[in-house]
Amino acid sequence: MRIGHGYDAHRFGEGRRLVLGGVTIEHHLGLIAHSDGDAVIHALCDALVGAVGLGDLGQHFPETDPKYKDVDSRVLLRDVMEKLHALGYTVANVDLTIVAEQPRMAPHVDAMRENLASDLGIDGSRVNIKATTTEGMGFAGRSEGIAAHAVVLVNE
Ligand code: MG
Repeated sequence: MRIGHGYDAHRFGEGRRLVLGGVTIEHHLGLIAHSDGDAVIHALCDALVGAVGLGDLGQHFPETDPKYKDVDSRVLLRDVMEKLHALGYTVANVDLTIVAEQPRMAPHVDAMRENLASDLGIDGSRVNIKATTTEGMGFAGRSEGIAAHAVVLVNE
């Protein structure tokens, strides 16, 4: 078994869709990024490549590459999973924490879990997603952006 950790954060901006865990969430602001800004999937991908010693997400999908402009992050996740499978790894479980003051994540967690379990090729019971606020403290607390943490366990 190998373990991996990932973290990502993006800043809120106007004129962007808010996409987290592959789910488009109704909100007046979205996350600014070269890709679709899905901090949940970026944290998850970083945890996956970290677990198997493949560096970080930016090495595999450079932000300077126009190919990844506004890319659906689920495409990146499935690409990462192809790399893991090619190396003979499968995912045992993932645990994700979204740090956001707003909007509320609870109504969207089931849909996120379904997306991620499908892309990871595992049962939904192996994907845990939770959300927390920071009680007004820090950038997430001031609603300047959203952060996500991911921990994954993979089997060789
Ligand atoms: Mg990111």
